[in-house]
Amino acid sequence: MLKENDTLVLKIRNAEKLHGHLGPFLVIGVRMGILAKRILNTNVGESNKLRVTARLPLLTPFSCIIDGIQATTQCTVGNQKLRVEDSQAQITVYFKLQNPDKALKVHVNPKIIDELKNRYSTGASNEELAWEVASMPESLLFTIGKQ
Ligand SMILES: [Zn+2]
Repeated sequence: MLKENDTLVLKIRNAEKLHGHLGPFLVIGVRMGILAKRILNTNVGESNKLRVTARLPLLTPFSCIIDGIQATTQCTVGNQKLRVEDSQAQITVYFKLQNPDKALKVHVNPKIIDELKNRYSTGASNEELAWEVASMPESLLFTIGKQ
């Protein structure tokens, strides 16, 4: 069970403050940002070299992912380090340091998206689903590849 002072929880709360509410897709974005920075091993000096392209359906709740990414990576639409592209089919986010060897593709497992849609339709709350996504193993949530 996640504790209130856990790093992940603090990052989720920070994203919630930016976004205005808590939900599972916001948490997916937060977890993507954390994962990308870990795998690309971005240190303080390098994090300003990170660029992100997010391909996803540009409607809520899917687009909530964008704010999770913005809150955790400081790559935003405003600073031009985040590009958002509409995709009806799937959710894939590309993270790239300005160095061709350091690129990462993170794909959200479509089964998880279907499961979340089902849970919404049976009345599960945003908050409830958010914390479920927060506790899910990364390997279940994402397929991770080189670009
Ligand atoms: Zn949202």
